[in-house]
Amino acid sequence: MLENLASRFGTLQQQDPEIFACLEHEMGRQKEGLELIASENYTSAAIQEIVGSVLTNKYAEGYPGRRYYGGCEFVDDAETLARNRAQKLFGAEHVNVQPHAGSQANMAVFMTVLQPGDTFLAMDLAHGGHLTHGMHLNFSGQLYNPVHYGVRESDHRIDYDQVAKLAREHKPKMIIAGASAYPREIDHARFAEIAKEVGAKLMVDMAHYSGLVAGGIHNSPVPVADFVTSTSHKTLRGPRSGFILCKEEYAKDLDRVVFPGLQGGPLMHVVAAKAVCFGEALEPSFQDYARQVVSNARVLAETLMAGGAKLASGGTDNHLMLVDVTSLGTTGKIAEKALDRAGITVNKNMIPYDQRKPLDPSGVRVGTAALTTRGMQEDDMKRVGSWILDVLKNVEDNDHIAAVQQQVKEFASSFPVPGID
Ligand SMILES: *Cc1c(COP(=O)(O)O)cnc(C)c1O
Repeated sequence: MLENLASRFGTLQQQDPEIFACLEHEMGRQKEGLELIASENYTSAAIQEIVGSVLTNKYAEGYPGRRYYGGCEFVDDAETLARNRAQKLFGAEHVNVQPHAGSQANMAVFMTVLQPGDTFLAMDLAHGGHLTHGMHLNFSGQLYNPVHYGVRESDHRIDYDQVAKLAREHKPKMIIAGASAYPREIDHARFAEIAKEVGAKLMVDMAHYSGLVAGGIHNSPVPVADFVTSTSHKTLRGPRSGFILCKEEYAKDLDRVVFPGLQGGPLMHVVAAKAVCFGEALEPSFQDYARQVVSNARVLAETLMAGGAKLASGGTDNHLMLVDVTSLGTTGKIAEKALDRAGITVNKNMIPYDQRKPLDPSGVRVGTAALTTRGMQEDDMKRVGSWILDVLKNVEDNDHIAAVQQQVKEFASSFPVPGID
């Protein structure tokens, strides 16, 4: 690993040893630890190459063929490839690949559909929704009027009857489906029915599960939604970024909102990397990957439950699960820290109807997208699950956690990381 570092980053090492040290440490962390943050993944070497390329030098305000700068012919080709591949991958009528991230993609749809003060209906943050779905400090909560639906207390599933009831009552102009911490498959067709009944536009934010949609595991929102937004860096395994799919009728308005409405020059190195990502997801092997992610999540969930952990909704259909760590006698904050010391990275998370506070909630969120990229399978998930249980049952025993960390390090290091090995 060190030889590889010196040959790939020798210039940086010479010129800026402080930042080189950050990179070196982060590479070690990614290599020697178990990455279970549900929103993270490992990009391919090809994606890292294009993100680290001279395409970052290019200004390209506008769209392919209609730019405000000269010299755009080659980045035009890259953006056209990105759009065409996304269109093919998801069967979309129109694609915009310029949003810098998932939040910007969402903001663009808000600005296309809503006027300030308009009402929209989305999932409650405390039940698994995202900041951009109406959190009071976010633009979505500051500029618009959010109404929130949630999950049922009895089974932690989205209560579609409640969604319909709230839609009839509040007449939102837009309904948002999609979440950051919901372990079950979302019924997009049901959302579309509700939106149609009340004359609302449907936006599906598939940021988390777009890789499962691309892999054919999760039902696709594209046929039934007016707009679909996504990140490219979660289960889809691309560069840190966002994109939007929509029906042709909204194409012009949406493109105008993204540029010049919201952004200046697109990040062309990242746009090109999105093209590489969509190309990878079009390969048949990506379907195997998506299947393995879900199968790994199921086995990890079963292992944790067999060890006495309670899971929100009693399991998972997708790549993530919410573990109620109070069932093991600890809290989310303590669990996150203890697991970190063992080389296992997760994030603390509220569970539905949590009695505790966001900074020290009852749960941790755990996902399998990243470990699956490293080649781990069902048996590996059983080992990972027993380490998690072991740490969570011994959060105060530092020697014990140090011993687990040694085992984790040895185990994790035997699986390659693209761009490091
Ligand atoms: C991650 C996420 C986003 C935003 O992603 P960023 O790229 O971090 O801005 C939006 N919506 C949902 C549901 C997400 O999970």
